[in-house]
Amino acid sequence: MSQSAPPKALGIFGGTFDPIHEGHLMLARALRDTFALPSVSLIPTGLPQHRNAPVASPQQRLTWVRHAVAGEPGLQADDREVRRQGFCYTVDTLEELQAEQPDTLLVWLIGGDSFHHLQQWHRWTDLLELGHMVVAARPGYDWSKLPEELMRVLDTRKVAAHPDALHKGRISLLPTPLMPFSSTELRDKLAHGADVSGLTPVAAEVRQSGLYET
Ligand code: ATP
Repeated sequence: MSQSAPPKALGIFGGTFDPIHEGHLMLARALRDTFALPSVSLIPTGLPQHRNAPVASPQQRLTWVRHAVAGEPGLQADDREVRRQGFCYTVDTLEELQAEQPDTLLVWLIGGDSFHHLQQWHRWTDLLELGHMVVAARPGYDWSKLPEELMRVLDTRKVAAHPDALHKGRISLLPTPLMPFSSTELRDKLAHGADVSGLTPVAAEVRQSGLYET
C-alpha cells in the first residue's frame, strides 16, 4: 500500500542553526520521508526567546541553511523569523503560517531536548493544538527525566509516526537512529581549528567566515 499524507501538509523545522549541521539535515529528510510530506521548511530563528544570542547573525545562519538545502528535494529555507523584529516565538510563526495556508496541516519537528523544556515556551499549551508535533530523540537525552506533565501530554496525544496518523493536536516520535551532531560541538571544534567537513554540509563556508574562531 502506498503512503499518502493528507492533501496538504507542511513540515516545519525551526532552529537556531548556529550553524546548521548534518543532524539537522537528516532530521528534515526523515520528517519529509516518514510523513510523506511534499515539503519541509527550515526556519532559522531571528532572536530566540529562550536561549542566549546565537554567535552568527540571523542573515548568516539563513544563508547557510539555504545553501545546505539547495538540491534537497522538498526541503526549503523560510526567512520569516529572520525578517521579524524582536523576539521570535514558535507559536507566532505557526499561527502566521496557518493563517497563510488555512487548509494545510502543520507538521512541526523538535528534538527531545527541546521538548523537555516545552513548558517554558511562550503559550506552550496553545502550541500543542496548532499542528501535529513530531519529537526526535537525541543522544544524551534521557526520556525518563521528562517532566511529569509532559509525560502525560505524550501519553494522551501520541500516535504512530505515519502519514495516516497526521492530525492536529497529536504527537509522534520520529523513528530515526540517534544522530550525534550538535551546533555546540561544531562551534567547539571550529574554535580549536578541527576539521568539520563531515559534520556540516556548509563546512567550507562556515570555516571561511571565521565566526567561531576564538
Ligand atoms: P546548540 O548545540 O547550539 O544548542 P543544536 O544542535 O541543538 O544547537 P538547534 O538549531 O538549536 O541545534 O536545534 C534545532 C532543533 O533541532 C531543536 O529542536 C533541537 O532539539 C533539534 N536537534 C538539533 N540537533 C539534533 C540532533 N542531533 N538530534 C535530535 N534533535 C536535534
